Amino acid sequence: MSRYLDLTFVQNDKIKKPTDCESFSEHVPCKGELMMKVPAVMNKYCPKCKTHTEHSTSIYKKGAQSPMAQGARRMKRKTKGYGSFPKQIQKRFAKTTKKTVLKLKCRECGYTIQTDGMRLKKVEISRV
Ligand SMILES: [Zn+2]
Repeated sequence: MSRYLDLTFVQNDKIKKPTDCESFSEHVPCKGELMMKVPAVMNKYCPKCKTHTEHSTSIYKKGAQSPMAQGARRMKRKTKGYGSFPKQIQKRFAKTTKKTVLKLKCRECGYTIQTDGMRLKKVEISRV
């Protein structure tokens, strides 16, 4: 299993620095780079208004973790006292990107829709 993970790592490193990228005079996103520019205002379908309306975009961010949640309480109990750390610490990751979710807020009714997660290295909201 660990060997397999090592292989994927090497492949990802190869993707990271493609030689085709450097030859372009203008910046063109290529495989492994995955950069996306998102407009600040988009015309999208609002399920509440039942028509296409203007939506303002923002990037979804994880909220603050609550210390009284079940998982947090269990972890506190597990790490209490003597003994080693009770869980395995993941050091190698097969994926090099994280999923990005966009939040689209209707400008007329304020209803927010979230898009499906996309694997991107970099997301930019272009405001003109
Ligand atoms: Zn709406």
